[in-house]
Amino acid sequence: MIPYKHEPFTDFSQEENRNAYLEGLKTVEAYLGQDYPLIIGGERVTTEDKIVSFNPADKEEIIGRVSKSNKELAEKAMQSALEAFKSWKKVKPEVRADVLFKAAAIIRRRKHEFSALLTKEAGKPWNEADADTAEAIDFLEYYGRQMLRLKDGMPVESRPGEYNRYDYIPLGVGVVISPWNFAFAIMAGTTVAAMVTGNTVLLKPASTTPIVAYKFIEVLEEAGMPAGVVNYIPGPGGEVGDYLVDHPKTRFISFTGSRAVGLRIAERSAKVNEGQIWIKRLIAEMGGKDTMVVDKEADLELAAQTIVKSAFGFSGQKCSAASRAVIVEDVYDTVLERVIELTKELTIGNPVEQSNFMGPVIDAAAFKKITDYIEIGKEEGRLVVGGTGDDSTGYFVNPTVFADLDPNSRIMQEEIFGPVIGISKAKDFDQALEIANNTEYGLTGAVITNNREHLEQAREEFHVGNLYFNRGCTGAIVGYQPFGGFNMSGTDSKAGGPDYLTLHLQAKTTSEML
Ligand code: NAP
Repeated sequence: MIPYKHEPFTDFSQEENRNAYLEGLKTVEAYLGQDYPLIIGGERVTTEDKIVSFNPADKEEIIGRVSKSNKELAEKAMQSALEAFKSWKKVKPEVRADVLFKAAAIIRRRKHEFSALLTKEAGKPWNEADADTAEAIDFLEYYGRQMLRLKDGMPVESRPGEYNRYDYIPLGVGVVISPWNFAFAIMAGTTVAAMVTGNTVLLKPASTTPIVAYKFIEVLEEAGMPAGVVNYIPGPGGEVGDYLVDHPKTRFISFTGSRAVGLRIAERSAKVNEGQIWIKRLIAEMGGKDTMVVDKEADLELAAQTIVKSAFGFSGQKCSAASRAVIVEDVYDTVLERVIELTKELTIGNPVEQSNFMGPVIDAAAFKKITDYIEIGKEEGRLVVGGTGDDSTGYFVNPTVFADLDPNSRIMQEEIFGPVIGISKAKDFDQALEIANNTEYGLTGAVITNNREHLEQAREEFHVGNLYFNRGCTGAIVGYQPFGGFNMSGTDSKAGGPDYLTLHLQAKTTSEML
């Protein structure tokens, strides 16, 4: 087996790559506006009620209409997943892993089509869409290999005359609830981690990005996944989500999304319902309020460049996005000045145009939430760039920087999930770290400094799941920077890490007398 290596990003400065992407776009444009069914036990189920997926850069453009599940259909899907579990759990891990490797190969061949679909459905600029698709491929390749490592369990000791084994077995039916911001990578990664480990899955993708999830299930089917192993049941989080989270036959839940929904799931899933004979396991990866710290002995150009890229890549709609910067006072004005200049240079518009650095935000609710926060920011700090938006054709918010904020202000404390960054001044590096830790989240953070002692201090004191030195705080790579956060950022499940799959397994000890 070829060792795992992450999927390279596409170099769009090459004409042939640009053309390949444009071809992908044409393929997607040819299937815009179609209807998609649910997939339950391999069967296509159509409902009257639909979720309409539209292009956030162009509200008039419908990406597709997807049948909408409800409690009855969720129950049907649960029954199908329970049935499929009986045989899937016995399928050899090698065979399950092969489905992932084959799926990765299919997606690699259709890479630009998938990326173009993300551009249309999620409003992702080319390079962001390309990274999302590459990450989906990475999850398939990485988790497939991880399953092969776990298939014979872990070594344990045996005394003379006995033979002890420690094997991993699947859990049962898992409910996978995914967000729209990595509509492909997170949806695919959480789904295949659950299924390659021998569980069966009910996948409820985000309602804003259901089409890419549908296309992915088709790929899994083509790759040889048996019917009922992953069931595709898009539907309203409140109705379908609650029903499945409460269901006594749900064995585990793998959720990625906001803090509010994650905590709701944590509470509900802790309750034992009638007929339930286990404690549900919960993986919950939630929000962030991620900080870039800039020291006085630092490459200030690097600091400004990485702040801007981490804050505004994909319009700041990443759980890892830099939504705060804390700059030591000696270099505050210089870095801020440069951040302002660089932010002013950013281009914003329809992401089908390669030249646009930033596209829209995901929908009307996001537009409202972000622009409401901009009003709050105007009260709390000094608006130095941006502060405006336009939702006439799509949901565009200009990259916005607030300076001179109190570290306890709402802009510095609450997750906005849009292209807005707040900046605070610290008197020294100690205080900068204090401010960085002054949040209930703990997902990512970065430190820009040339001072070795300060790096070591940050390694110990900066309390985040993913800490980066002298680079931006986004862009974790599967298998290289396992990803997950502390505190209210979630259960620190470390997606793309060496122990992630074990969260979907239970260990069984057998001891035989010889
Ligand atoms: P969200 O509103 O929490 O939604 C996430 C998923 O939960 C969607 O599929 C949603 O369905 C579903 N849902 C809503 N209510 C539910 C309920 N009562 N029970 C069960 N499921 C329910 O989050 P989002 O807006 O899609 O994503 C953005 C958030 O995700 C941000 O906070 C971001 O930081 C976080 N995030 C975290 C990570 C990480 O790894 N830590 C990665 C990516 C994103 P509907 O779409 O139908 O509402």
